[in-house]
Amino acid sequence: MDNNVKQVIESVIEDVKLRNKGEAEFHQTIEEVLHSLEGVLVKHPEYVKESILERIVEPERQIMFRVPWVDDNGNIQVNRGFRVQFNSAIGPYKGGLRFHPSVNLGIIKFLGFEQIFKNSLTGLPIGGGKGGSDFNPKGRSDREIMRFCQSFMTELYRHIGPNVDVPAGDIGVGAREIGFLFGQYKRIRNSYDAGVLTGKGLTYGGSLARKEATGFGVVYFVNEMLNYHNQSFQGKRVVVSGSGNVAIYAAEKAIEHGAKVIAMCDSAGYIVDENGVDLEIVKQIKEVERKRIKEYVSRKEGAQYFEGQKQIWTVKCDIALPCATQNDIDINDAKLLVGNGTTVIGEGANMPCTNEAVQYFLEKGLLVAPAKAANAGGVATSALEMSQNSMRLSWTFEEVEEKLKGIMKNIFAVSKDAAEEYGYAGNYVVGANIAGFLKVADSMMSHGV
Ligand code: GLU
Repeated sequence: MDNNVKQVIESVIEDVKLRNKGEAEFHQTIEEVLHSLEGVLVKHPEYVKESILERIVEPERQIMFRVPWVDDNGNIQVNRGFRVQFNSAIGPYKGGLRFHPSVNLGIIKFLGFEQIFKNSLTGLPIGGGKGGSDFNPKGRSDREIMRFCQSFMTELYRHIGPNVDVPAGDIGVGAREIGFLFGQYKRIRNSYDAGVLTGKGLTYGGSLARKEATGFGVVYFVNEMLNYHNQSFQGKRVVVSGSGNVAIYAAEKAIEHGAKVIAMCDSAGYIVDENGVDLEIVKQIKEVERKRIKEYVSRKEGAQYFEGQKQIWTVKCDIALPCATQNDIDINDAKLLVGNGTTVIGEGANMPCTNEAVQYFLEKGLLVAPAKAANAGGVATSALEMSQNSMRLSWTFEEVEEKLKGIMKNIFAVSKDAAEEYGYAGNYVVGANIAGFLKVADSMMSHGV
């Protein structure tokens, strides 16, 4: 049976590679997830019989569209828009929109596939989806951003809805973009469907604590994992890659838990502040002024700036929180980190470590909090935003934060239990994949082919 299961897994992976040529990140997540499901398929032969793997790796729907818009000089620009509606077994498609020049169909598929299991782990009724565009918002004026968002929604609106597909933000999409997208949706539909998007502004249906949720959630999850292994954040040196929403609020919560955040970065370079990074300065630079992190050194004595984002992993730390983007930590960075004494990895970004790097960390006995579980607080709070929209009320910051905390604790518990049940005690990477998969697979079984 074991061999049969292995063969099924390898043949599905081969098939994905053949049918989705050149989509390296998508292949990467498929290999990572499917290889962790061997024990599940042995225990549940019905999943093999009903071709659950073959079905789950194929998105239910993939939409690609033209996004034409006029820039401030009057020139017409054309970008490509995407929405991959990956799996709706447990709820309407749910997942962010990423606006970044690196976006292509393969990137959106990888993110959509991850989202299926992440959303399942939240315990809330949300399916998996993801979208975005190769549009580069850097250096664009507010008016250009608005025109781009309006054009993007002019096509997207026909594919989404509060019970169909609920996008939110991701890299390059924050409250400003969600506002423009929502305005256009409302204009076209002539209907106030607050629950069609999440990450909205607080004045029109947004949820308190949504902005902070992903970063806070990462630290709640890592803290649960640390506590379970009789450790804590107290007095630990932490390096956080990135300086966006996830990074800033992960750093803030880590500091609240007694850690010292030594370094942060953006795509151009990184800062080191041995006295502890001052997040008010980072917020001012990144959230208000939308400038480079380099600015930090002119505002804080004793801080240093170095070119090159990757080199941040040369900074000695106990806990590394990669919160920037995918494949931020490769095998060489992993070796550097382990060599410098890092013992804990908390993935804030989606797939921030290569498969090789994760394997290396696990072999060396590090505690790894996998992205699907650790960064699920963002989308979980998006689901709480949907709940508030449906009920036409809003919860206080404390109410939302309490629910978020409970959700993250539960995600750790189910990931730990699944890891133990299937013989991978301490491996939360495999545990999270299994726990996330089971709920989706069972629902797909119930719904028939
Ligand atoms: N982009 C976030 C993620 O990767 C949040 C998605 C959402 O809130 O729908 O999970």
